[in-house]
Amino acid sequence: MSFLSVEEIIKNYDGVRALNQVSLHVRKGIIKGLIGPNGAGKTTLFHLISGMERPASGKIYFKGTDITSMEPYEISLLGVGRTFQTLQIWGNMTVVENIMAGMHTRLKEGFLSCGLWLPWVKRTEKEALKEAKEILEFLGLLGRWKWLASQLSFGQQKILEMGRALAMKPELILLDEPAAGLTATEVRRLAERICQIRKEGVTILVVEHHMGLVMEIADEIAVLNNGELIAEGTPDVVRRNPQVIEAYLKGARVDA
Ligand code: ATP
Repeated sequence: MSFLSVEEIIKNYDGVRALNQVSLHVRKGIIKGLIGPNGAGKTTLFHLISGMERPASGKIYFKGTDITSMEPYEISLLGVGRTFQTLQIWGNMTVVENIMAGMHTRLKEGFLSCGLWLPWVKRTEKEALKEAKEILEFLGLLGRWKWLASQLSFGQQKILEMGRALAMKPELILLDEPAAGLTATEVRRLAERICQIRKEGVTILVVEHHMGLVMEIADEIAVLNNGELIAEGTPDVVRRNPQVIEAYLKGARVDA
């Protein structure tokens, strides 16, 4: 059984069929790229997997559990993390606080014990800080842990958002255009980080327009066009697929 299985999903928005009978499978431990021209349905699929939207029909399974109708927090507790196309960090909080905010869904303490400031809460906070710093070290941001997130460069803010998703210790992470707006050097570093994250055992599904990045890091690529899955396979196979070439010649952004 696949780690993540998307089965015959249909999603409509006001007469627009954003996804039409899309099935997609992600095996544990791989980096899977999800590409396609603008408006192909990539972000819609991420919204469905993360529980932010519901399909008209079809099913989504994660580790064998039907998550189609689950709430976003339930899906994240099951081990699915995500980042967004538009940055979702808190600029007026410090870098380390942003990471710690990502841990809250998995910290055990409720409001009562936090309010009473019980000894084990203090210990947990200390542990959380240590863990957050480890994540920042892994991402090359430890030197800036006390900075306000708004003081980071755009590229660093995008890495921070990825760190916040990692703080939830996801088993599967959905990255929505992580390279958008990054410089060539930052894209290189991003590629290394994503590969390191996979090495840590996290499965990755990444939406990206930056072809160079996807072709380099992905084990498999799925291609959406007009809400339909038109190709799936290794980067080499997908690159040579005539339907993919045609879809891209019709006006996709190919940034690299
Ligand atoms: P891009 O690469 O430009 O981000 P995408 O592949 O992520 O595109 P989606 O954002 O998933 O594409 O959009 C798929 C289709 O669904 C498009 O036609 C889009 O206009 C439509 N759509 C997406 N969200 C909504 C919405 N909330 N309301 C109405 N239509 C929507």
